[in-house]
Amino acid sequence: MKLSHRITNLTGGGSDGWDVFNKARAMVRAGVAVTELTQGEHDIRTHPAILDAMDAAARAGKTGYSSVPGEPDLRDTVAARIQDRTGVPTGRDNVLITPGGQAALFAAHNATCDPGDVGLFIDPYYATYPGTIRGVAAIAKPIQAHAEDGFQPRAAEIDAAADGATSLLINTPNNPTGVVYSRDTLEGIAGVCRKRDLWLISDEVYDTQVWEGAHLSPRALPDMIERTLVVGSLSKSHAMTGSRCGWVVGPEEAIAHLINLATHTTYGVPGFVQAAGNFALNAGPWLEDEVAAPFRRRRALAQEVLQAQNVLRLVPAQGAMYLMLDIRATGMSGEAFAYALLDAHHIAVMPGESFGKAAAGHIRVAMTVDDAGFTAALKTLCDFAGQIANTRAAE
Ligand code: PMP
Repeated sequence: MKLSHRITNLTGGGSDGWDVFNKARAMVRAGVAVTELTQGEHDIRTHPAILDAMDAAARAGKTGYSSVPGEPDLRDTVAARIQDRTGVPTGRDNVLITPGGQAALFAAHNATCDPGDVGLFIDPYYATYPGTIRGVAAIAKPIQAHAEDGFQPRAAEIDAAADGATSLLINTPNNPTGVVYSRDTLEGIAGVCRKRDLWLISDEVYDTQVWEGAHLSPRALPDMIERTLVVGSLSKSHAMTGSRCGWVVGPEEAIAHLINLATHTTYGVPGFVQAAGNFALNAGPWLEDEVAAPFRRRRALAQEVLQAQNVLRLVPAQGAMYLMLDIRATGMSGEAFAYALLDAHHIAVMPGESFGKAAAGHIRVAMTVDDAGFTAALKTLCDFAGQIANTRAAE
């Protein structure tokens, strides 16, 4: 039977960029001890207090259909949080609760792109971005940010790519680079969105993980409130990846239509998960700080390890749970290096090429194993890169 073009071309026909990850997983299944610095998954689990709230809600009966737009108390909590953090007036009708940030990204593109419209996104990018845009039958068009700019995108290059585009997807703090977009970058991006009449889809799922500088939500910039859809999630901020709880925040009209979309797709998020989410968001900053602390610590450890060598270059590690390392001094591609490292030392990292063209010659290191294991793996990685660079220099 014929399947739709939209679904069969979701991944664009190429590799999905997870080959090294899959090989590492296969090795683990075969009993090999692999240090996996690949996925954006915490090495701690959801806090027991959140689980207690989830359990209590389920036992109190929140196991039936929930309110499709989201439970009113959680929508209010999210609205208050966003208003607090940005100063932008935000109410319940600006919020749709979704099964995670990924569903929010899909919903946001559904709301903004017709079939054949161009959906812009910045390369390097989180692996699902192009497929999400293709999933609404739009054309996924990457715009490269440059290593020499510390991966801050250039507004002029977004402007030059904007013909036929209806949306621009950005992500700060950024996966995979760990870069936090500067005010200048965001003002430039906002300027292009206003000039080119683009929706800005702002993926802010790492907004509680900032190590340097400050997170600025572009929805707070002048005249952006009516053209910005913010994507948020409890996955990263509260170590709730498996609970699938996120949101879209945007203009009331857009949210009203997105509620219709939710009625016809997800039909809401489990009530006990939403109750746990509401508890988590109201627990106060200590909980978010506790979840973010290991990454803050390991980033500092990594900076120490990296200072002792001069082959690998660290992209400014300003936020999120990843480090991006420039490995071009080894003469290898990110992919070749990642495979060689996995074979030689059983350490798995993601090749930069998995995240687009702009991160070629880089690797992404997830800071998601315990401090001692992380430091040891990074030292081994540095020595390995050093040996390759030395051999190359001697040739
Ligand atoms: N955006 C980015 C940049 C991500 O890295 C992720 C998950 N790795 C998501 C969105 C989706 O997260 P979730 O669906 O778990 O909320």
